[in-house]
Amino acid sequence: MSAEIYLDMDGVCVDFMGAAIKANGFPPDESLARWLEEHPGSLFPEAIFERSPMAFFTHEYIQTEEFWANLTPFDWFDDLYAELNRLGHVVFLTAPTGSPGCVSGKHHWLIERFGTDFHDFIFTRHKNRLAHNNAYLIDDMAFNTEPFSERDGHGILFPQIWNELNHVDNPVPHVITELEKKLAR
Ligand SMILES: [Mg+2]
Repeated sequence: MSAEIYLDMDGVCVDFMGAAIKANGFPPDESLARWLEEHPGSLFPEAIFERSPMAFFTHEYIQTEEFWANLTPFDWFDDLYAELNRLGHVVFLTAPTGSPGCVSGKHHWLIERFGTDFHDFIFTRHKNRLAHNNAYLIDDMAFNTEPFSERDGHGILFPQIWNELNHVDNPVPHVITELEKKLAR
């Protein structure tokens, strides 16, 4: 039976954080470099952005369909997606925010790349409900991967500056190696 691979979008496939930083009026590259340098592994360094995560992530522009539909794929996205498809059936698994524009924007992003027949996606915050012994979740947030593993699924943390794998330089080989190890068991 083919492995059921669940692929998070924000922070894994698309540069949500860079776009959110820009929406809040900060320079993305410099801010992310400072984040890694001064607060590696921090979920949200308030010292850099001078506002609460709540105020930051509910910025007016982040509520719009346009914001989500236009998120830029990371350089590694095509490579990651191709490698994962070699190892199993990939379904995007992504959480909606409190704004309807988020879901329609993400849907837009997906069908623009994969066509209107594309349906390998699930929008939910309850990612761990999909966990089982043949299910693998690739996600940049430990608060998603850990509950997934606790429910008998296999959570694989995707390296990012805001998690404990902030020291990993090449995220795709790291994740593929981790997945291959788990599949070999
Ligand atoms: Mg994410």
